Amino acid sequence: MRFIIENFGCQMNDHDMEKMGSVLIDHGHLPGSSEDADIVIVNTCCIREKAEQKFYSLMGRLQHAKRKRGLILGVTGCIAEQEKENIFDRLPFVDFSLGPSNIHRIAEAVESAAGSARTFAFGDNGRSLPLAIRPHNTRTGIKGYVTIMKGCNNFCSYCVVPYVRGREESRESGDILAEISEMAVRGMVDVTLLGQNVNSYNNGSNDLSFPELLRKIDAIPGISRLRFVTSHPKDISQELIECFGTLRTLCESIHLPFQSGSDRILALMNRGYTASEYLRKVQALKDQCPGIALTADCIVGFPGENGEDFEATMRLMETVGFDGVFSFIYSARKFTAAASLPGRVPADVAHERLSRFQTLQRAITLESNRRMAGTRAEVLVEGQSKNSPDELSGRTRTGKIVNFKGGRSMVYKLVEVDIIKGYANSLRGELSKAPGR
Ligand code: SF4
Repeated sequence: MRFIIENFGCQMNDHDMEKMGSVLIDHGHLPGSSEDADIVIVNTCCIREKAEQKFYSLMGRLQHAKRKRGLILGVTGCIAEQEKENIFDRLPFVDFSLGPSNIHRIAEAVESAAGSARTFAFGDNGRSLPLAIRPHNTRTGIKGYVTIMKGCNNFCSYCVVPYVRGREESRESGDILAEISEMAVRGMVDVTLLGQNVNSYNNGSNDLSFPELLRKIDAIPGISRLRFVTSHPKDISQELIECFGTLRTLCESIHLPFQSGSDRILALMNRGYTASEYLRKVQALKDQCPGIALTADCIVGFPGENGEDFEATMRLMETVGFDGVFSFIYSARKFTAAASLPGRVPADVAHERLSRFQTLQRAITLESNRRMAGTRAEVLVEGQSKNSPDELSGRTRTGKIVNFKGGRSMVYKLVEVDIIKGYANSLRGELSKAPGR
């Protein structure tokens, strides 16, 4: 049978989608399209209300398609975990529902659905971590994702993750290193380590610490680029900061959500740091690794956020000079402490704040990209540029997209590019004629 996986949400979800695709292919199914798929799996995210709304409207459309074509229809991920059996009350046409820790049962669930039996599986059974993906599912053949831990113990007051993904659990370092060594043998050069709270990997365990793990991965021949996502500011240790600029593979970029610039709101969010502690860590990263690219997440309109709190957020953003920020209006999530906080920010005020925030951030990003003109960057070529068939597109170690003229033989290779212009979302370059670094 042919399958498609509709995906919502974060890189963890992207990776879960790859894992499920891999299992289905191993069981004789083939990737399909929305026109010819017999199995449609919707991999969900409930971190933001908008994603949840999109999910339910997609399910409405799929119900129609199921009636016409007799599809097998499954739901996986956070909404499956959040709703448990109740999902069948709301969406009675769904054939199976698997929480994030049960996605390894995907082939079994499809088989049962083909025999008209319904499958649902939730809760933690510790089986979701060791699933490795196979080369046929990787998106470019050179980039790979490795889940090193899952869950979270932090209970930020707005976040549903600890409720739907469970408590922190780290994979054994030996398994991770073996998986990355195998990826390197298959020709992958760019590895991203994934975890909801990746830098608290192995907290309180006797296995390797996170910086020790990075050093071991750095020594694996064939790996050129190493990244990790998502980090919590309170778990950024001095030892981890010192890995930047010293480990050959560790890219000069970090995604470090700050969420708010106001200490009062950070406390209400239960984030475990103040704005000045955040800024101190950012400064230490910049001192250790000049030119490091910083990206972040930020929430505006959190309950109780007043004009002064919001101005503090704007100031923090300007002080850091982020290369990019994913910014959202707060939305109340089931189970979370913030859902019952007083002081809801009116929608028009929240929208106005978000718009101001994003306008300033766009200007900062543009300025940062423009400053790159005249520099030289190592680019990992990912393929043809979307804008022009004569051009290639790739990414710098700092994660910026670069478009430049070049031949197809360069695809998947590391090349040196002179940056000639910076735009809002990308850079323009030309192949460097100067000798390689
Ligand atoms: S650190 Fe906070 S925001 Fe991040 S996953 Fe954990 S609870 Fe959610």
